[in-house]
Amino acid sequence: MTTNLLNFDLQGLVAYCESLGEKRFRATQLFRWIHQRGASDFDQMTDLAKSLREKLKTQAVIEGLPVITQHESQDGTIKWLFDVGDGNAVESVFIPEDDRGTLCVSSQAGCAVGCRFCSTGHQGFSRNLTTGEILAQLWFAEHFLRKHLKTEERVITNVVMMGMGEPMQNYSALVPALRTMLDDHAYGLSRRRVTVSTSGVVPMMDRLSQDCAVALAVSLHAPNDALRDNLVPLNKKYPLDELMQACLRYLEFAPRDFITFEYCMLDGVNDQPEHAQQLIALIEKYGKGKPWCKLNLIPFNPFPASGLLRSSNAAVAAFAKALSDAGIVTTVRKTRGDDIDAACGQLAGDVKDRTRAAERMAKQRTIPLQPVR
Ligand code: SAH
Ligand code: SF4
Repeated sequence: MTTNLLNFDLQGLVAYCESLGEKRFRATQLFRWIHQRGASDFDQMTDLAKSLREKLKTQAVIEGLPVITQHESQDGTIKWLFDVGDGNAVESVFIPEDDRGTLCVSSQAGCAVGCRFCSTGHQGFSRNLTTGEILAQLWFAEHFLRKHLKTEERVITNVVMMGMGEPMQNYSALVPALRTMLDDHAYGLSRRRVTVSTSGVVPMMDRLSQDCAVALAVSLHAPNDALRDNLVPLNKKYPLDELMQACLRYLEFAPRDFITFEYCMLDGVNDQPEHAQQLIALIEKYGKGKPWCKLNLIPFNPFPASGLLRSSNAAVAAFAKALSDAGIVTTVRKTRGDDIDAACGQLAGDVKDRTRAAERMAKQRTIPLQPVR
């Protein structure tokens, strides 16, 4: 059987090399060739013994994902659609800024959580990506961009697991991928520059704090359980109190001294003054007088099937002001790449829904969310 070496973190590659009777430092050399140099051909690896290269050629490959399409936005954002086989495709987005380059990476083909406002959620779930498929997005994008921008320097300085899928529901593939992002022999990103975004899979938040405590973003979207149950169905399993407690536990191990809460602004649904007041009360209840989180307001990126609308700029500004006045650091996320459907929640790829979640959601859509106005 052929082994794709993109599936291994360094520890995994060491074990693989040992199974071939090779020493640990060979694995490190190989790892550097793959991730730092973007090599996919063993013959390039001139500092490896010819006999090892020949052996590798017979049983291993370094194989990325086929690119189906690439779109570049007017603002420099680039979106790739990758083929993951069997009629499924996933998306990654590169977002250049003055002082950084962020890659938004997918973790699953589809998503089983089924949030009301998310186009990935509306597609249902097909399958988890492997570690190799998660890393292939970064491996390809980094080395493509170096060529594209004609530089030898690192281009991607930050990774956010905010593409398609719920990373914490693909935990065993996620952790080796994160470790490779952090590894000095691979991408060498600091823990603060790698962010896992979760809709709130509480047990996995605890595990991540022990296994690979990178920066954490939690998709909150509602200040009370009734509304959150409706928007993020996972809330029925892990309600707000459990989620808040898990955030506080995570903070003890986190690379930053705050958790980021994402809050998608939906017109008339979660953007009213009383929601801001409830949110402030919720944060204060758990904060014990100390600042412990930041709020990132995301103006909703509409897609037809959602039946939801983006909050007005005035509502977003008023909401942000209420939070800021209460001493909560609040930012409004700039929409990037919306001309190429690369903005948050617009990543839809192409997913063969094996769970019929899309069908269930279509039924659920007939239950209107109660606008509070
Ligand atoms: N499953 C993870 C990560 C992927 S979604 C999570 O839910 O956190 C990344 C972010 O985009 C989440 O905060 C998500 O709530 C937000 N998002 C999803 N759909 C959106 C939309 N249509 N408009 C704006 N933000 C959206
Ligand atoms: Fe899944 Fe995140 Fe979309 Fe919810 S917002 S459906 S958890 S990808």
